Amino acid sequence: MKPSLLVHRIGRLYTLDPDAPDLGEAPNMSVAFEDGELSWIGPSAHAPSAEQVIDGSGLIGLPGLVDPHTHAVWAGSRSDEFARRLAGESYSAILEGGGGILSTVRATREASREALAADARARVAGLRSHGLTTVEIKSGYGLDPATEARMLAVAGDLSDTVRVVRTFLGAHAIPAEFRGDREAYVEQILTEQLPLCAPLADCIDVYCDRGSFTLDESLRILEAGKALGLTLRAHAEQVEYTGIAAAAAELGATSVDHLERIDHEGIAAMATHDTVAVLLPGAQLYLKDASPPVETLREAGVRMAIGTDLNPGSSPVHNPWTIATLACILQGLTIDEAILGMTRNAGLALGRPDLGWLGPGSVADLALFAPPPGEPDTVASLVQHMGAHRAVHLVMDGQLRIEDGRSLSV
Ligand SMILES: [Zn+2]
Repeated sequence: MKPSLLVHRIGRLYTLDPDAPDLGEAPNMSVAFEDGELSWIGPSAHAPSAEQVIDGSGLIGLPGLVDPHTHAVWAGSRSDEFARRLAGESYSAILEGGGGILSTVRATREASREALAADARARVAGLRSHGLTTVEIKSGYGLDPATEARMLAVAGDLSDTVRVVRTFLGAHAIPAEFRGDREAYVEQILTEQLPLCAPLADCIDVYCDRGSFTLDESLRILEAGKALGLTLRAHAEQVEYTGIAAAAAELGATSVDHLERIDHEGIAAMATHDTVAVLLPGAQLYLKDASPPVETLREAGVRMAIGTDLNPGSSPVHNPWTIATLACILQGLTIDEAILGMTRNAGLALGRPDLGWLGPGSVADLALFAPPPGEPDTVASLVQHMGAHRAVHLVMDGQLRIEDGRSLSV
């Protein structure tokens, strides 16, 4: 049977195939799709004929990009807080006054499912325009059973736009009404939120840090999620070192995220258990924080992924290409590491080895980008020129989802 779609004469294709050297880079390649699957990949001279042919000449081909860490469902605005912080007010002072994450929680609880979905859909469409075909989305602005479940339902509704991986994050913060009795809130997560949310989620995450959840509380919550079959993740070692990275790695977490303050023991545990380090340079930039120890992670052989951490406060960043550039400049990743971090390693962070590469056994997602004007058709030119890259064509599950997105360029 004829393939339904052929993306032909791609100027330079990076397959990110785990069996290929470097990034699986080759010029003048074609990729064919049939029945929602990748059916052929190889030099353009040998390409099969197909019902629909898209011209990839002059373009850079990559697997559909993967964002392994977002908080893309929320209501309310924190732009006023940004102005206050620029004027010198601290985040802790803003939080004391009921702002910060607590203001997002209030607004999200009050928002209808339809209102939450409309904004989140627009955000995810924006991410997709930059070549993302898989986006992880967390709950964590409800902090009560009904709102946590509503956030996950909204995230699931967006799967007609991109492939969504849903993460339950009831342990994002202690809500205001439980400030005097944190144990009661942990109990609510375990006995009310988890039973309701686990069927709506793929992963479970905890925010283990000063002022949030302790190591003991975090491990109880992760263990309960593991018993329900959820993939484990953790916000780890961001503000203060807690030991969660090592403990979560030992428990089987696929990723630990942030890691600004991780130590050698945590890195050794991650290397032993093949836990992915998800780096979030947007939060590092907005919080003017220290960089995670990338050189030590690299030397230990820990895989690194990068995420937008898209959220209304500490990382309101809507573009994975901006994150790639920041990961290189602020954190010291190489260009190849940044590309791996937004493709194959991001898939592994989500426990999905089929994401973020092109070949037999991968999902059928392909993103095509034009090099910046006057630049060569290489990933180096995409990463050096910060952010201004929209997918020209985008294939997801073998279907053409964006055709000639250049007309959308700004
Ligand atoms: Zn986060």
